[in-house]
Amino acid sequence: MSKPTQPSEIARDVLRQLALNRTPPTPDNYMALYHEIAGTAMVENFPEKALKNLAAELPRKTAEQLRFARQLETAVADKSWATLNSAFQSFSPAGAAEQPQWSTLIRDLIQQLERSHAGMTSAKKREAIEHVIQASSAPELLFSRLQSLLRSWSQGQTAEAVPALVEGEATVASEAVAKPNQTAAGVSVRAGASVPQLDGELQELIAQLLENSIEMLLVDTPELADEATRLATEIRAAYTAESIAAFTARMKKFSHRLQFVTEDQAELKTALLHLLQLIIENISELTLDDQWLHGQIAMVLELFNQPLNLRQLDDVERRMKEVIYKQSNLKKHLSEAQNRLKAMLASFVDRLTDFSESTSGYNDKIERCVEKISKASDIAQLSDVLDEVMRETRVIQLNAQRSRDELKEMRQRVDESEKEVSRLQTELDQASEMVRLDALTGALNRKGMDEVLEREVAHAHRHDGTLCIAMLDIDNFKKLNDTHGHHVGDDALVHLAQVTRETIRPQDSLARYGGEEFVILLPETSLNEGVQTITRVQRELTRKFFLNKNEKLLITFSAGVAEKGHDEPADLALKRADAAMYLAKRSGKNRVVAA
Ligand code: GH3
Ligand code: MG
Ligand code: MG
Repeated sequence: MSKPTQPSEIARDVLRQLALNRTPPTPDNYMALYHEIAGTAMVENFPEKALKNLAAELPRKTAEQLRFARQLETAVADKSWATLNSAFQSFSPAGAAEQPQWSTLIRDLIQQLERSHAGMTSAKKREAIEHVIQASSAPELLFSRLQSLLRSWSQGQTAEAVPALVEGEATVASEAVAKPNQTAAGVSVRAGASVPQLDGELQELIAQLLENSIEMLLVDTPELADEATRLATEIRAAYTAESIAAFTARMKKFSHRLQFVTEDQAELKTALLHLLQLIIENISELTLDDQWLHGQIAMVLELFNQPLNLRQLDDVERRMKEVIYKQSNLKKHLSEAQNRLKAMLASFVDRLTDFSESTSGYNDKIERCVEKISKASDIAQLSDVLDEVMRETRVIQLNAQRSRDELKEMRQRVDESEKEVSRLQTELDQASEMVRLDALTGALNRKGMDEVLEREVAHAHRHDGTLCIAMLDIDNFKKLNDTHGHHVGDDALVHLAQVTRETIRPQDSLARYGGEEFVILLPETSLNEGVQTITRVQRELTRKFFLNKNEKLLITFSAGVAEKGHDEPADLALKRADAAMYLAKRSGKNRVVAA
């Protein structure tokens, strides 16, 4: 019998065989027999619909569950048994890593509750926990939200941000459950091999970046800040190919606009700085005589010469505040003392007027007495007049005596006041000087050094004199710090500055150039003399060793000395000194090298 070839013939044969073999005529049995008789390969049927429904029902609360559900969806979309297989292989719900570590979580919660966080009271923290517990029904959800809460605390987020985070997560979770149908509808899109896969943690990170950092940067452009918030919400809920693609497109536009905003902000900053600089320079011109202001102005101007840095700004602000506080205090005392002095001078003048008035009264009286005497006809009349003269003279004598005493006392008080005024004046000048000195060592700071250097260079130029610049760097200072502590390192710096000042001449200047680097300016000094001076400092340091808790510590330095050429710019000479110092380091340290 020839093999049937027509489908209808095959179908008839299949039904006959099923009846003969008493095989139940189910669709599967029919199909298997059909292929057997037709001699064709049976195409394995892929249970697309069933699997799609299954995937839609899957929980998506943890990152692992979400990943599994997505893999399943991809497998259904591709109708791929292999993908399905690998999805099941990789999903191990009972895997130890995915088991919620409740004990660790609780321990962390207790620790974080006790720890203090900026702007967050423990009451607020308890409130946040309460909120999370109420809002999370499933234990896995509760676990992951409590973890988020902990993360946000340890990242120092504000209390207000916490409920938002919890709500954000709730959105992810509920949408993940509510969206399965939509996911199924998106199947054809995600059939492509290049569908981006984001895991929940990365999405949350992007969302937090948008909310916590970028939004803050955009305070001046509220519209873009709102867009950042919207994008954060969007990425949290994005897990289908379309929503990720939509997010990516919006994110691209957003980042493009962000670029413009940051460029604008940079320009704005530069413009503001220029404006500030202009004002400061102008004030400096206007107040040529006010020594007190000059230090402050110079300090701000110095800031413009280097890239802005928060630490530096803080430092200048702190020093400025210190100086301003001292100055204002002293100025108050000074003006009080000056007022006292003025008041005393005023009463001094009053007394003098009184005195001359009383003496002129006396003169009048005496004149009248003289007249009476010339007219006196008898001795009795004369005696009366003489009594009067005696009386008046005694009064004027007493007055004079009193005035002299008062004037003497006033004179003393004026002297004292004058002394106080000049003392305060000196102190005020010193306070203004503080901005030129290094707080730790009392040596000149960079600004002070620049001023002195400029002065010395001008002087050398005018008098055709020499100027030597030495650069010192303490040897193995890091080791000293590491062995004995930063505090001892600081004391060593103070010691070195003190010994150096005692060794160099009064007209030489010591400046702290950087951490453990010093510059010494030696006017009217040749290269040879300069090297000798620095070698003497070196020797003195071995004699006057540094004592730390009765332990003698030897501080050595390496130095380079350069004599500034007549037309050489000072900074070039400084560079040569630095290069020579480097040579001294390279050739074994604790030595002085001439540039
Ligand atoms: P070298 O002999 O090659 O100069 O080695 P060094 O260890 O002296 O030099 P290095 O530049 O490696 O280290 C300098 C150290 O000085 C590092 C820094 O911590 C320390 N330092 C800088 N400023 C200060 C300060 O104000 N106080 C203290 N205690 N240490 C400082
Ligand atoms: Mg150094
Ligand atoms: Mg050093």
